[in-house]
Amino acid sequence: MRVGFGFDVHRFADQRPLVLGGVVIPHEQGLLGHSDADVLTHAIMDALLGALALGDIGEHFPDTDERFRGISSVALLEEVVALIRARGYRVVNVDAMVLAERPKLAPYKSAMVDLLAHKLGVPGNCVSIKATTMEGMGFVGRREGIAAQAAVLLRGARAGQDDDGEREVGQ
Ligand code: MG
Repeated sequence: MRVGFGFDVHRFADQRPLVLGGVVIPHEQGLLGHSDADVLTHAIMDALLGALALGDIGEHFPDTDERFRGISSVALLEEVVALIRARGYRVVNVDAMVLAERPKLAPYKSAMVDLLAHKLGVPGNCVSIKATTMEGMGFVGRREGIAAQAAVLLRGARAGQDDDGEREVGQ
């Protein structure tokens, strides 16, 4: 088993879509970034890479590379998941927290969970998306941007379970 954590921040900007966990959320501002600036998916990707000590998303998808301009972060997440699988690991679960003063994210959480669970290859009950405000404090509180944190657990193919997730005899 390997654990990883990720953190990311993006600044609000006008005339940008707000994309969180691959879901477009109606809001008067979006997030600024080279890609679609999906801060939640970025935190999850960094957690996945971190679990296997594979560096960070800036190394894998540099913002100087025009290939990644405006790209869907979910497409990058698929690449990271493929990298994890190629090394013989699968996602067990993800727990993530979005720090945002606005908008309210509750109506969109289940869509985010469904999309991310599908991309991560896990059941919906293995993806947790939580949200909190910062009670008006700091850059999130001043509504300057959104931050996200994520923790992931990965299981190696030889972690005492077969591909069906059944425990092996004697384990
Ligand atoms: Mg980012």
